[in-house]
Amino acid sequence: MSIEVRHLSKTFGRFAALCDVSLHIPDGELVALLGPSGSGKTTLLRLIAGLEAPDATDGAAVLFHDENVAGRPVRERRVGFVFQHYALFRHMTVFENVAFGLRVKPRSERPSRAEIRERVLTLLRLVQLDGMAQRYPSQLSGGQRQRVALARALAVEPRVLLLDEPFGALDAKVRQELRQWLRRLHDELHVTSVFVTHDQEEALEVADRVVVMNEGRVVQVGTPEEVFHHPADEFVMEFLGSVNVFHGRVEAGKAILGPLTLDYARGVGAKSAPARAFVRPHELEVDDHANGRPCFAAVVQHVNAAGPRVKLTLTADAGESLQAEVSLERYREMRLSPGMVVYVSPRDLRLFVDGEQKVVG
Ligand code: ADP
Ligand code: MG
Repeated sequence: MSIEVRHLSKTFGRFAALCDVSLHIPDGELVALLGPSGSGKTTLLRLIAGLEAPDATDGAAVLFHDENVAGRPVRERRVGFVFQHYALFRHMTVFENVAFGLRVKPRSERPSRAEIRERVLTLLRLVQLDGMAQRYPSQLSGGQRQRVALARALAVEPRVLLLDEPFGALDAKVRQELRQWLRRLHDELHVTSVFVTHDQEEALEVADRVVVMNEGRVVQVGTPEEVFHHPADEFVMEFLGSVNVFHGRVEAGKAILGPLTLDYARGVGAKSAPARAFVRPHELEVDDHANGRPCFAAVVQHVNAAGPRVKLTLTADAGESLQAEVSLERYREMRLSPGMVVYVSPRDLRLFVDGEQKVVG
């Protein structure tokens, strides 16, 4: 079931939580809504679910498989919901929790007891909780409870699955496991799913496509690779993972960006204009001598070698603090340690002049 939203806005009092959002989610995709807290992700999800009505503006519509569901109440939209705080019924067993949505169906649609049992047990196998059917939520770990919540959402065979920060309350290791598990589950079921997160790593790892939101607007839609490597603007660049920002100007054929000076042919003859360059830590080349390319000197402040890549904190001449990453081999070869002077050059960078992305060279 594809989902399309058109021109959705939502204001609370005088505050615009969502401003004219349009979005198409193809059938069977797993899409992440990614953005900082307060960017409107939950509001958008609630509008899709029908838990909230959009502002009555021209052209506002929510379509499921080309059918306008604007007037449809929540239960007719056949939406499965999973929230951050697993709202399981504490006095019910795992089995009863998953069966709940089927048991409360009107008699004409309700499956038989045997069918309910069959479906619940199949779902518990799917979420790898077979054998736990008779436990109560208090006897499960957080990750297991969230899997029950997912099985419960799937029990009614939703046409669309909406997940709002489903792993937000879990610790890092469990989050990591569950996100890979959600990906595998989705590959098996292909239910069109929209998944809200403020965690860029989670979005980039799990989703087919990422919708980046900021201040109530969609700022970019793309595959994880597209949004990471070709960010639409400076906000996306900064939001998707750690990044070094060099502030400066372009003028007279040069981009002068703090400690870094590059050729910028497009600037010749043009007026001087404010510019910023963005470089991710792994895109900074760190050497123990100047290597002939545009580079600047920096002092190693801190070394963190507790990982597959070594993280360096560097300070450039004017005191700018930078993050760089090198391989373990490079780190050992260069014998990097605090106080050492190194030469830094960007292998890759994204330059924005007056807020617009430019090609360097
Ligand atoms: P996110 O899920 O991205 O963190 P939300 O969609 O929950 O963001 O909220 C977007 C903005 O709308 C926030 O600033 C929030 O305070 C505001 N907001 C959300 N729901 C309500 C509400 N019912 N009443 C007033 N303001 C709200
Ligand atoms: Mg939210």
